[in-house]
Amino acid sequence: LAKDLGRNQFCYFTASMQEQAQNKLELMNDLRTAISLNQLAVFYQPIIELQTGIIRKAEALLRWKHPVRGMVSPAEFIPLAEESGLIIEIGDWVFKQTVQHIKECKKQLGLDIQISINKSPVQFRETVSQLDWLTYLTENQLSGKNIVIEITEGLLMNNNTSTMEKLSRLRAADIKLSMDDFGTGYSSLSYLKKFELDYLKIDQSFTKNLAQGSEDMILSEAIITMAQKLGLKVIAEGIETEEQRKLLLDSGCDYGQGYYFSRPIPADDFLQLLARTSEI
Ligand code: C2E
Ligand code: MG
Ligand code: MG
Ligand code: MG
Repeated sequence: LAKDLGRNQFCYFTASMQEQAQNKLELMNDLRTAISLNQLAVFYQPIIELQTGIIRKAEALLRWKHPVRGMVSPAEFIPLAEESGLIIEIGDWVFKQTVQHIKECKKQLGLDIQISINKSPVQFRETVSQLDWLTYLTENQLSGKNIVIEITEGLLMNNNTSTMEKLSRLRAADIKLSMDDFGTGYSSLSYLKKFELDYLKIDQSFTKNLAQGSEDMILSEAIITMAQKLGLKVIAEGIETEEQRKLLLDSGCDYGQGYYFSRPIPADDFLQLLARTSEI
């Protein structure tokens, strides 16, 4: 029986793998024109100071509205952008949009907001980036303090000299560094003493199963304690419930981000939300 099933499944998989490959090629192709056709948008998800409930920061998250497929998830198209090298152009575009948005918050609300941007390892590897991020910041009268770059553990794993130089250059310009999805990579903890990070983001897979005494609770508490002693601020991702918020606050976590507070929202909505909540 298993053999029969196996054979059928084999046929099924071949067809679907071909379909997947085709699908991938199509998406990759469409992505090339997505910027010029105005299909991309940067959304902003508020990051809340847990002690006060005030929005202190936000994370820039890319959205792609495909004319036929509708919303395509970044989890699906970022890997394609990385594979094709398009991530360089797209990443530069996200950075510019974010800088303009920070300026807008300043101009309209007088608020000096800090926004974090995801930067994948490919974006560090590439030597020929069209845009010099630091020059662009200066040209727009912003300081590095307004920007946080979110990196992942994988970036620091092989200790690449040029990557390290690029990170130092960002730091020298006062740009902050955040370790995204902390605890989900395969790297050792030794990088924590080698690199000057500012934030650790507790991955949402830990936040999800928080409950008094649960294993993920124990791990989260340990991460928070360790980070505090190393002088890093902690941001918990994926907070969806009041219970999670409370448990993290009680554990000393500094900031929270998640659907409980707000989903990632368009630039204008974020500006309005800031305007409403910063009056107090
Ligand atoms: P990430 O950097 O870890 O971003 C957090 C993800 O968690 C986002 O998914 C966000 O929408 C989602 N999220 C936030 N709060 C909650 C919650 O309460 N519950 C749940 N279930 N999810 C929540 P998103 O926007 O789909 O992005 C996925 C990933 O794509 C990001 O993970 C990041 O690695 C990548 N990405 C997004 N935008 C960019 C970008 O501009 N450049 C690069 N290089 N990567 C990006
Ligand atoms: Mg992130
Ligand atoms: Mg994350
Ligand atoms: Mg992630």
